Amino acid sequence: MPLVAANWKMNPTNIDDALDLARGILSVARGHSERVEVVIVPPFPWLIGVSEVLDSSGVKLGAQDCFWEMSGAYTGEVSPAMLKGMCQWVIVGHSERRLYLGETDDMVAKKTASALSSELGVIMCVGELADHYDAGTSDQVVSAQVKAGLASCSADDSARLVIAYEPVWAIGTGKNADPEHAYRTMRLIRKVVGEMIGAGAARKVRILYGGSVNSKNVQQYVELPLCDGALVGGASLDADEFAHIVKVTAEVYGHR
Ligand code: PEP
Repeated sequence: MPLVAANWKMNPTNIDDALDLARGILSVARGHSERVEVVIVPPFPWLIGVSEVLDSSGVKLGAQDCFWEMSGAYTGEVSPAMLKGMCQWVIVGHSERRLYLGETDDMVAKKTASALSSELGVIMCVGELADHYDAGTSDQVVSAQVKAGLASCSADDSARLVIAYEPVWAIGTGKNADPEHAYRTMRLIRKVVGEMIGAGAARKVRILYGGSVNSKNVQQYVELPLCDGALVGGASLDADEFAHIVKVTAEVYGHR
């Protein structure tokens, strides 16, 4: 089943707006939950409130990050053990964390392994910077990120593993990657995942596209043969816009 995730990032800034947005998304998304796995990923303080809105609707909840240890003296961190039971998914290695918080491939690998061991699904983000794209080194950068991030993964993790290919230069910029570039990179990701956990298991790992996805451009990505959905940032803060993305995804996959 395709997966479409709404990464709200550090928005909205109050709980009432967060709950309204969750209700707005839910009102449309629940009608497609048999055909598309929809995941809402709010900031940590809104997780409990949003989980109550989602209740047993079929729309899933995700966290934007987690730490690799389960408990202890790690001020400010949130562990997979704390998220387990409330969230089904966690994003790791988002480019904004790599960029602003110095998150390394090694940290991403530890977070991925720890979240999977807590039975959370992991959406691991990879993607090249503009400089890499311009220099033609996107493939090397992305395959190194995938290899490093999956260092401790095995075939058993495949159903709970999602890789989001997000060219960093396309995130929040309104610039869209050429679908041909997105397709070639997703094909490379599938190949590298196969080298890490076996080709059979790699086919079960879903690959998303992310980077300024909106209701107008989503179709050109989700209809790519290897694309299993989208990770959506800015456009997920507008319930109607996000609902439209879910609807288009459901239609495209309904015709496959
Ligand atoms: C993201 O946050 O992962 C993202 C892709 O953001 P945007 O859709 O705003 O580019």
